[in-house]
Amino acid sequence: MSAREFAYYVPASLQDAFALLADEEAKPLAGGMSLIPMMKLRLAAPGKLVDLRRIPALRAISEQDGMLHIGAMTTHYELESSPAVRLSCPLLAAAAASIGDVQVRNAGTLGGSVAHADPSADYPAALLALEATVLLASAKGEREMAFSDFLVDTFSTAMEPGELVTAIRVPVEEKGTGVHYQKHPQPASGFPMVGVAARIRLENGKIAFARIGVTGLTGKAYRAAGVEERLSGAAATPETIEKAASAVTDGTTPSADIHCSSEYRAHLAGVAAARAIRAAVAAAQ
Ligand code: FAD
Repeated sequence: MSAREFAYYVPASLQDAFALLADEEAKPLAGGMSLIPMMKLRLAAPGKLVDLRRIPALRAISEQDGMLHIGAMTTHYELESSPAVRLSCPLLAAAAASIGDVQVRNAGTLGGSVAHADPSADYPAALLALEATVLLASAKGEREMAFSDFLVDTFSTAMEPGELVTAIRVPVEEKGTGVHYQKHPQPASGFPMVGVAARIRLENGKIAFARIGVTGLTGKAYRAAGVEERLSGAAATPETIEKAASAVTDGTTPSADIHCSSEYRAHLAGVAAARAIRAAVAAAQ
């Protein structure tokens, strides 16, 4: 099947993009890794495509006040290979490196993935564990919100019509914090059947801080509060980690699909959580 006919625009500035996106027939185009297949299947049929790739403001990576500011059009490959990101936010670099294959990572973008809000995307686990924020802008102005508020549901975000994701902000990781992203990929697509991101800070041999993000398990990525509670303040022993990891599905019903049953997905989540926490603890030591 081929896409419906559309007009194609390549603005050179955010202001020009906002003007084009004021038309409700218009849709932003990042790397096209999700939008183009959807258009070919006629699941999306925008009358106008507004290609964001020539807007320099959407590509910058910079560090300010302990935060890393990453432009929305930064590709997965740029994230996994950027020395600044690998050093300051290794969890995001690891999530980026785990996506699909090199062709997808060269074209797909952080902003496009976040805006698409696929329940099986890799970034949401890391962005929740990182307590990231999303910068949004339109002709009406700018705003910033927690990623946890931005992500509303399956393929649904808090973006208003005409709004663009312009950047993501993540904290520069402090010394003593270990991170790990553990993914069980679906072999054909590479999408996670389950992905768990762990951020652990150790102080005097105890876990001072634990942030656990989970993706692929339900319609929307989430923070595993039960796991975090069991880890916080505890000694990082194998028993503590196993017990905490078993709470990863608390309060959720893992989805079932053609790839695995709900029970099997829950099992994978427990295994992935334990591996992610163990590796994050080792990295923190
Ligand atoms: P596009 O496809 O161009 O856009 C996606 C959506 O976001 C569209 O609705 C578009 O209008 C909107 N949009 C884009 N940019 C913005 C913006 N700045 N502001 C507002 N709206 C915007 N993902 C994973 O997480 N893990 C995987 O393992 C994985 N494997 C893949 C394997 C294959 C074969 C393919 C084709 C994709 C895979 N993906 C995977 C998806 C990939 O990560 C895409 O990069 C991601 O879905 C977003 O694509 P994109 O950046 O090209 O955005």
